Amino acid sequence: MNSPLNIDLHMHSNCSDGSLRPAELVARAAAAGVQVMALTDHDTVAGLDEAQRSAGDLGLHLVPGVEISASWRAQSIHVLGLWVDPSSARLRSMLSAQAERRRIRMRKICAKLGKLGLPGEQLLAAVEAHPGLPTRAHLADALLAGGHVSRAEDAFRKYLGSGKLAHLAAEWPAVEQVVEWICAAGGVAALAHPARYRLSAGARRQLLTDFAAAGGTALEVVTAGNGADQIESCAQMAVKHGFTGSVGSDFHKPQLSWNPLGRLAKLPDCVTPVWRSHGF
Ligand code: AMP
Ligand code: MN
Ligand code: MN
Ligand code: MN
Repeated sequence: MNSPLNIDLHMHSNCSDGSLRPAELVARAAAAGVQVMALTDHDTVAGLDEAQRSAGDLGLHLVPGVEISASWRAQSIHVLGLWVDPSSARLRSMLSAQAERRRIRMRKICAKLGKLGLPGEQLLAAVEAHPGLPTRAHLADALLAGGHVSRAEDAFRKYLGSGKLAHLAAEWPAVEQVVEWICAAGGVAALAHPARYRLSAGARRQLLTDFAAAGGTALEVVTAGNGADQIESCAQMAVKHGFTGSVGSDFHKPQLSWNPLGRLAKLPDCVTPVWRSHGF
């Protein structure tokens, strides 16, 4: 049985590359009918306190989360840590190393852009002026604001995307390590948006096998933008590999209309919900 609750376990605030403050995000989610939400910023738990206070005021249940960048065979993947204890010393020290990695990576990408004749220093300053942990999304916004591209999406297509002019190969920690840190913080490790990685069917199966062997127990089966076919194939993957299933919008900002809050597809009945063992 699926939960009758409106659940969304994947969202970003301006502590990473979302546009809303944590409290604004929670208020927006509540207004959209969400009853259980996870804040899952990229590589940081900095927004959880504010989100928790706001959720308490609004009667919404906040699941403490994080979306950690990891490497699997030279591919960047995202691992959601759900129900993590943000005060875990191991998680905190790992996330501070990850933040430093992000700052160094951003400097390297901006240096590459500089070599291409773009104002690398200026772009770096624009990214660093943002309150959140730096991501390529901030840099895409800076390229757009500077008139170097006409849409943020074009920044990825031309410069920042995989194999493009200013792309850097993944330098994230191995998925096994990331899962271990999430588990050490009492969390559930869920592989985010499994259909989004550019992998052959065989490689995707191997990723899931390795993820399970590392201690990962959940798969994000429903993610906004996926159609019924993709949801069904992710559900089958979850069943086959013995994962519980999660659902998440991956909401970043109100302007992106493909992932509105509160309107996620239902988790297929064949998959055990990741929230079952947490009482929802
Ligand atoms: P990073 O974690 O620094 O590699 O930045 C990746 C973030 O950029 C993702 O979490 C998305 O929010 C955003 N992003 C990635 N690819 C694209 C794309 N093609 N168009 C727009 N945003 C993207
Ligand atoms: Mn993002
Ligand atoms: Mn992601
Ligand atoms: Mn995300």
